[in-house]
Amino acid sequence: MVKMVNNRQIEYFFVRIYSKTFISDFEKQYMNKYFYTIGLEIHAQLSTNTKMFCSCKNDPNAEKPNVNICPICMAHPGALPVLNKKAIENVIKVGLAVGGNIADFTEFDRKNYFYPDVPKGYQISQYKYPIVAGGYLSGFDITRVHLEEDTANNKHFVDYSLVDFNRSGVPLMELVTEPCTFQSAEKTAEGAVRFAKELQLILWYLGVSEANMEKGEMRVEANVSISNDSKKFGTKVEIKNLNSFRSAERAIFYELIRMEELLDDEKESKIIQETRGWDEAKQKTFSQRKKESSQDYRYFPDPDLPKLKLHEAFDLEQMKKDLPELPKVKRARYEKDFGIKDEDIEIYINDPLLGDWFEGMAKILGNKEKIKIASNYITSDYIGLKKANLKVKLPSAKNFAELVNLVAENKISSRATKDILAMIVVNDESPLKIATTKGLLQESDTGILKVVAERIINANPKAVADYKSGKETALMSLIGAVMKETKGSANPAVARQILLDLLG
Ligand code: ADP
Ligand code: ZN
Ligand code: MG
Repeated sequence: MVKMVNNRQIEYFFVRIYSKTFISDFEKQYMNKYFYTIGLEIHAQLSTNTKMFCSCKNDPNAEKPNVNICPICMAHPGALPVLNKKAIENVIKVGLAVGGNIADFTEFDRKNYFYPDVPKGYQISQYKYPIVAGGYLSGFDITRVHLEEDTANNKHFVDYSLVDFNRSGVPLMELVTEPCTFQSAEKTAEGAVRFAKELQLILWYLGVSEANMEKGEMRVEANVSISNDSKKFGTKVEIKNLNSFRSAERAIFYELIRMEELLDDEKESKIIQETRGWDEAKQKTFSQRKKESSQDYRYFPDPDLPKLKLHEAFDLEQMKKDLPELPKVKRARYEKDFGIKDEDIEIYINDPLLGDWFEGMAKILGNKEKIKIASNYITSDYIGLKKANLKVKLPSAKNFAELVNLVAENKISSRATKDILAMIVVNDESPLKIATTKGLLQESDTGILKVVAERIINANPKAVADYKSGKETALMSLIGAVMKETKGSANPAVARQILLDLLG
């Protein structure tokens, strides 16, 4: 059985990489067998200056352990928490960005459990009254977004463990989605990752979190289940330790296939509600523990923290107005204003600095056709150069636009364009100046080229006769002669057309 899972997993990724048409056949084969349901719980560390209940620095890059600590985040007796307004503001921004309702009343609760990374014996979180309820993003309904504190970090060694409290009390936002049902295991995995990536973009755009998954600043937990009844969910399994989008996609897919095969074999009872981890080395999920229920945590309102009236404490209308342009709106604007390919748009959406530069450059060009040409040179040539060489950087928008104008108006060849581009990304100079000094300008002036072409025709009666008797190669030799006469500066396409016109 396990082998089957692996085979299909391999087949799926193979198919995804190598063939798009293949995918749909592959999917047809497996689709609609069951209903595949997923709900996500995503944590993100908020990038505030200080921690959530004390004035310690919130520094995810601290080099030494236990340097950003104090009696509050170490839970010394008598230490009292003080709320960080910025953390609440950040969660409200996320709520507004996903169209959720901002609670008027909110409070913090104690979630009681023991672990060495929770020095108080409880984690401050929110239970009944989250800051945000509802909302929608990328195919998923959002249940809630609440605020809690991060735990410390345990480091395990062979015969001992260490605890680093730098992270203890860092503000952590948790977003929970409603269960969402898909038609296949692969669609579920892809849909979940699409959602998580879109949320990461929103967190970046809002400037509320670095949300780097590899650094644990954003953590995705996936709850999955499968069922053969569209009206009833199956038993859910929660998957943890997903340290990248890639592991998330693979783990979700793996787990759903595991469940699918148990159902195929009528072993549904073997699917139990539990937490499973993702083993990156083995590319498998494994059982970690049976899931505890919320009663086990004995949640109750924290008596040390104030209740909050958010509609009084914040000017929500103003905050809504002040939200930056979000990815979805930006995509639509790029599509409408520039008419460039979706893949290109996605590059600018994911690299807003490049996007801003592109917008400025597009404004100089002021013409959709030229903007499309420009975008091609950026997304293929410029990005290729940048990957190959660290010293490559964006030229000024003005110089880049000048280069695009030269090629769009046929003044330089596409070969020369690539060469000049490779120069201006290292040394930001005027492409016109480079083209002039290097003799790369093409003669497209039909008047001048016509005179040259006439001279070539008169001087080569044999080639003309050959052409007229049907020898296509004779035309090439005439074009070659024009190129030679103009020292390579003629635009070959224009020269060809003029010769054809003259030869009748
Ligand atoms: P718990 O009480 O175990 O934490 P919740 O009802 O709070 O469970 O849901 C936690 C997450 O699991 C949510 O994202 C929710 O959408 C998702 N979820 C709940 N039931 C299912 C299910 N049967 N299949 C997949 N996901 C589910
Ligand atoms: Zn502290
Ligand atoms: Mg829950």
